[in-house]
Amino acid sequence: MAKATWFILVELLLLQCASYFCISQGYDFFYFVQMWPGSYCDTKRGCCYPSPGKPATNFTIHGLWPHFKNNTVPSNCNEKSHYDGTKILDLFSRMQQSWATLACPRNNGTRFWSHEWEKHGTCSESVLDQHSYFEAALNIKDKVNLLQILEDAGIRPDDKFYKVEDIKEAIKAGTGYNAAIECNSDPSRNAQLYQVYLCVDASGKDLIECPIIPRRKCNPSVQFPIF
Ligand code: AMP
Repeated sequence: MAKATWFILVELLLLQCASYFCISQGYDFFYFVQMWPGSYCDTKRGCCYPSPGKPATNFTIHGLWPHFKNNTVPSNCNEKSHYDGTKILDLFSRMQQSWATLACPRNNGTRFWSHEWEKHGTCSESVLDQHSYFEAALNIKDKVNLLQILEDAGIRPDDKFYKVEDIKEAIKAGTGYNAAIECNSDPSRNAQLYQVYLCVDASGKDLIECPIIPRRKCNPSVQFPIF
């Protein structure tokens, strides 16, 4: 065989190696985490509404978090990849609506989004660039109307207590998938519905059954605070 043909063969083999063995995707699936703003705010720490004003009475995105099936969590995967608001200008109003910052002091959300991109988003950057990452989370949020699903099951943010099993059952009926529930405590130590975890495939498009169900603390019965 001619030298040039050998050279091309070796190059092709190296390319195969790069695509099948050497470059790993860096995660297996995502946790898509939504929080109830009333529970974030009803704590000793409290909250601050974002600069545009009080967010809508709805669940708000906490994050889209890459995760491995062996239950390890990648984080801060590329310290050179910084959040760049100019890349998501077209998503800005959707972000403010669906991914509201509640941290103090009051701000427009940039700090929260930049934390989420740098800690989590950079770990799925081989699949979703910054625009696709934020857009994927917003699209899932639009597909899964958690508040509507719960309200249809008679579970409302009215300060009453609801069984966690009923909440999970309603989400399973409304989405077709099992969710994990995380609670936090209000200043009087009442357990309240804080976050809902659903799983999303590595493309960031479709809900999947969670390969690992996150174990988060909760009481059998939790308050759903008014917001
Ligand atoms: P993570 O590292 O993705 O688990 O996010 C935790 C960080 O995000 C903490 O610093 C929280 O204070 C902050 N955080 C969580 N939820 C919100 C929210 N709705 N608004 C602003 N910051 C938040």
